[in-house]
Amino acid sequence: MELHAEMSPFDGVNYFFDRAAEMNGLSDSARRVLSTPKREVRVEVPLRRDDGDLYVFVGYRVQHDNSRGPYKGGIRYHPTADLDEVRALASLMTWKTAVADVPFGGAKGGIEVDVSDFSKRELEQLTRRYTRGIAEIIGPTTDIPAPDMSTDAQVMAWLLDEYEELKNHNPAVVTGKPIALGGSPGREAATGTGCLIVLDELMRDRGREPDATTVAIQGFGNVGRWAAIEAAGRGYRVVALSDIGGAIHRDDGLDVQAVIAQVDETGSVAGFPGADEIDAGGILELDVDVLIPAAIGGVIDHQNADRVRASIIVEGANNPTTPVADASLAERGVTVIPDILANAGGVTVSYFEWVQNIQRFRWTEARVLEELGNVLTTAYRQVAAISDERDCSLRLAAFSLGVGRVTEASRLRGSL
Ligand code: NAD
Repeated sequence: MELHAEMSPFDGVNYFFDRAAEMNGLSDSARRVLSTPKREVRVEVPLRRDDGDLYVFVGYRVQHDNSRGPYKGGIRYHPTADLDEVRALASLMTWKTAVADVPFGGAKGGIEVDVSDFSKRELEQLTRRYTRGIAEIIGPTTDIPAPDMSTDAQVMAWLLDEYEELKNHNPAVVTGKPIALGGSPGREAATGTGCLIVLDELMRDRGREPDATTVAIQGFGNVGRWAAIEAAGRGYRVVALSDIGGAIHRDDGLDVQAVIAQVDETGSVAGFPGADEIDAGGILELDVDVLIPAAIGGVIDHQNADRVRASIIVEGANNPTTPVADASLAERGVTVIPDILANAGGVTVSYFEWVQNIQRFRWTEARVLEELGNVLTTAYRQVAAISDERDCSLRLAAFSLGVGRVTEASRLRGSL
């Protein structure tokens, strides 16, 4: 696949896949089998808004690969969640579950909708209608959804309830649920915590100390917020934070808990006392050591990649770096911990949640955290070893590891 600036999200993921497939010596036909989604479902999601108007939204569920286990992946409510984006995210899930070596395949769901002004009733109705649309293709041993952008534990609770109305009681059909409905301790924090677990490993390799390291985080939702809490807790200096409402910067470091208190009250980091307001996109270009994009995809592209000054990027978000930007960062020696490794903590604790649901046995938070550490540290070590051996980026190494595992499973099944 030719590298160019305007690649779609799915083409972008397949560009990375292709390079790994080449490194692994895969034939063209094997590449086509592994990159093509197994099933794509498009559903109509009608909604009567509180003002009485009737709207119709479009939702998708893309099941990319299940050679290593049931399909697994989040559900996103976002205006850009079209079929191409959902395909890209489903494909990333296939490689991510393989890198973490959890027994799942890859899937993703989404509705093309801006829910920022939706009431709770509207969000619930939207979720229930979408769930009815995909109920026949999800299930605890077939496809297990989870939260993503603009969906949270409450949304997963509605999804579970609607599914159980149609089928039968089975909390293992969805992860990221509230703990009272079978969710796992530690799931909410897992993705952000995972970002810091892998960053700590890299820092150890480089002989660097957290307290001499500045961090900027784009996005202050589930992933960004927990990444900030963990970074501050591990001694990093969190100097900049942003969300859709604005971006803030303070050289001496921000009081993360105080920012959270403000966001819970006002809905945004903007206007935090004692911090400078900066341009929203400017957070990506600050003179910091570590940048954690934790919002939407494609934010580091051919236009701004040259201006990124961080020496380490930890991809909390999915697909935040376009292939052209990735090449430019690599040329300048910027280390990127790729999404399929950096944010794999979420799906890892989702796996623990699913296991607990099947076992009907709840783990302690301490056990969840310990096992999360084991999984991510092992994954990081394996990726870093490939990167050293093959003299390639961590991204290419992670894709090579994931593609290798999916290839092996597919061959053993006879599908390759
Ligand atoms: P979320 O909806 O909880 O939070 C998203 C945050 O990004 C919000 O603070 C929002 O204001 C901000 N944001 C949105 N658009 C922005 C923009 N243009 N500029 C700056 N900030 C913007 O979502 P989340 O669950 O935290 O997911 C964030 C990213 O992490 C996504 O790419 C998602 O796919 C990825 N991810 C999430 C999980 C998970 O467990 N939730 C797991 C793996 C990866």
